Amino acid sequence: MAFVTRFAPSPTGPLHLGHAYSALLAHDAARAHGGAFVLRIEDIDATRCRPAWETQIYDDLQWLRIAWDGEVMRQCNRLPAYEAALQSLWDKGMLYPCTCTRRDIESATSAPQEGILGPDGPIYPGTCRGIPTGARPADAALRLNIAAIARQTSFTEMGDGLAGRVGTTAQDYVQSIGDVVLARRDMGTSYHLSAVLDDAAQGITHVLRGADLFQATRIHVLLQQILGLPTPIYHHHRLIRDDNGKRLAKRDDARALSKYRSDGASPADIRAMVGL
Ligand code: GLU
Repeated sequence: MAFVTRFAPSPTGPLHLGHAYSALLAHDAARAHGGAFVLRIEDIDATRCRPAWETQIYDDLQWLRIAWDGEVMRQCNRLPAYEAALQSLWDKGMLYPCTCTRRDIESATSAPQEGILGPDGPIYPGTCRGIPTGARPADAALRLNIAAIARQTSFTEMGDGLAGRVGTTAQDYVQSIGDVVLARRDMGTSYHLSAVLDDAAQGITHVLRGADLFQATRIHVLLQQILGLPTPIYHHHRLIRDDNGKRLAKRDDARALSKYRSDGASPADIRAMVGL
């Protein structure tokens, strides 16, 4: 069976031990299966991405002895593909424009019973849903009308402690995911849409990534269905935490790979630190 996996970092800060774990796990799995390991730079957020961080990603991976196969995919070169998918979803009536600010959403969801958190934060209260619109506006975010498309989905999960078939009902989509944004006003796409289209374009058969993205996978599987794309097998891995049990973030410069490296650590030391 074909095995193609990927590492998809965003160049918004230094890679840390959590990224090293993710990249090593995916790379080692591809090699063990005689498959391919590809790299994708998730740089749709121009306000946060920096060329220097992208250069650092290549550097850190090479230092870790992680070789990727084929060309690197950069999301900044994929905007026409995202736009084509958005237009087809718009034409099918699955999207609607939303002009709410973060504050509008916070105040509309401040009643405790409405403050349920979905994969992207508070479940959108539906303020802009149902407002008649003519042509697709150029300056608004686009949300998925989840109630109109929700259906039972499932995917195969291989992660430790999670392994099995994971199902999501139409009702789960409406109640605990909601109308997610597929195109942000400032970038014309979103993580969810881009990741799903790119995984398909790169022929990814196995997605290995952190357990923090487990709930997002429910959205991805639904998007794959409505876009007619294959659903890969997923492996959500444990997260690397700091001494206080907190998940590492890009701002944790103290755990940046480049810091360990300049302090004299070897790639084998990094493997040992993340338990590989
Ligand atoms: N770009 C995401 C990140 O750096 C990873 C997304 C994914 O693996 O699907 O956290």
